[in-house]
Amino acid sequence: MSSHLPAALLDSLAGLPGYNRETFERVHAAAEKITSLRLNPLKITTPERVQQVLQALSANGVQRVPWSSEGYYLPARPSFTFDPYFHAGAYYVQEASSMFLEQAVRATVDLSAPLKVLDLCAAPGGKSTLLQSLITEDSLLVTNEVIKPRAALLADNLTRWGAANVVVSNNDPRDFSRLPGYFDLVVVDAPCSGSGLFRRDPELVSEWSLENVTLCSQRQQRILADVLPAVKDDGVIIYSTCSFSAEEDEVILDWLADHFELENITIPLDADWQIVPTVTTKRNCTGYRFYPDLLKGEGFFIACFRKKGSSQSIRKQKESRQVALTARQRELVAPWVNIPASWQYFLHQDEVLILPPLLATDITMLQQQLYIRKAGVKAGQLGQKELIPDHQLAASTILAETLPVVSLNLQQALLYLRKEDPGVNTDIRGWALVTYKGMHLGWAKFLPNRMNNYYPKELRILKEING
Ligand code: SAM
Repeated sequence: MSSHLPAALLDSLAGLPGYNRETFERVHAAAEKITSLRLNPLKITTPERVQQVLQALSANGVQRVPWSSEGYYLPARPSFTFDPYFHAGAYYVQEASSMFLEQAVRATVDLSAPLKVLDLCAAPGGKSTLLQSLITEDSLLVTNEVIKPRAALLADNLTRWGAANVVVSNNDPRDFSRLPGYFDLVVVDAPCSGSGLFRRDPELVSEWSLENVTLCSQRQQRILADVLPAVKDDGVIIYSTCSFSAEEDEVILDWLADHFELENITIPLDADWQIVPTVTTKRNCTGYRFYPDLLKGEGFFIACFRKKGSSQSIRKQKESRQVALTARQRELVAPWVNIPASWQYFLHQDEVLILPPLLATDITMLQQQLYIRKAGVKAGQLGQKELIPDHQLAASTILAETLPVVSLNLQQALLYLRKEDPGVNTDIRGWALVTYKGMHLGWAKFLPNRMNNYYPKELRILKEING
């Protein structure tokens, strides 16, 4: 069976640990499609809920991803577009090998401590949603994407995920040198030549060339050099790609060890996982290779380092420039939310932002250094008499439990998500939270003879329901 993989790629991989040309070509030619997803522990909180969500996606044949606490393989790819659980942020559809980031994080940082984490190349948000699930509520995740429309997609996916301890930024890696020594953990899931995804997306093959591998390798070095100052001393940097090429993997590890004071960290493996450790010849650094002919996942590479030496760290906090709410304004917002007393409300123009304590302390400084697209939870727009609630609040986990709720069946939920009128019979008047099987979908305002659908236009389902 021919795999249509570039001969120059196959030749360049000869001799790499775990590479077997015959089985590698065979698995690409077979082109099996693997579907996996990771549940959102913020929203799917009981074993019954887990079963409900998985059952709705696939009646049977669901299997655990062995290196992930929330990851599952599905036997076939369902229509996620027509699954209200997807829109409610119950899960993120993520390639299984990438979920191994969980093991890398567990092996390198103390997840019980409040951490400042940066996901530098983050869109569409697979690794960020995973990182958010691993850190404590009093930690902070800055999730960044340099390409503007991709940063918008990242923000939407993080809104769906619902966590308050997240900032979404749209910056070039070099901008992070303005935050020296700020982060305990930085993840660089670098843009790469993409050979690891050739089985899943064969159309990527035509874009591959050895020249591009070299260009990617140079760009990866630039990105790492730009962000390293932002890692704290004794902080951790995790580097990953979806490329099989040594130039983007092992060579980068040696380059890092050559140019910076970094200590390579190994990750404990279970032999059954069939993940292949690779040790660089020059600097003895260990990385991990994922081959689709050895495990149930796509091509992936990951390695971890601890930063050594003494470098500059961030200056004293700048004075907060945030505008607090007046007592009257707080009264308008309070019935909508359920937050600990240590959390803060800020007014940004006429919008109310809700920030957990660490983010509230650092937001002014972050705003001065980064272009921030989203921070904490936007509760809504404050008018004279009422709060017009924002979708971010509906998708969050800080909503008051006493709000009026209208629950929809599947057909109604899909109409609502298309921003149409689901035709609900209710005595409720005014604002209500629209739900599907207990999951929050968004806001609606019920008037005597109609319902106004407040689902965000840019998130609505465009596909015809029976199309
Ligand atoms: N981490 C993401 C996830 O798990 O969903 C996937 C990230 S993808 C491998 C790499 C990202 O880097 C892309 O979103 C791409 O837009 C971004 N990127 C491209 N060029 C970049 C550059 N020069 N510096 C930083 N990021 C870049």
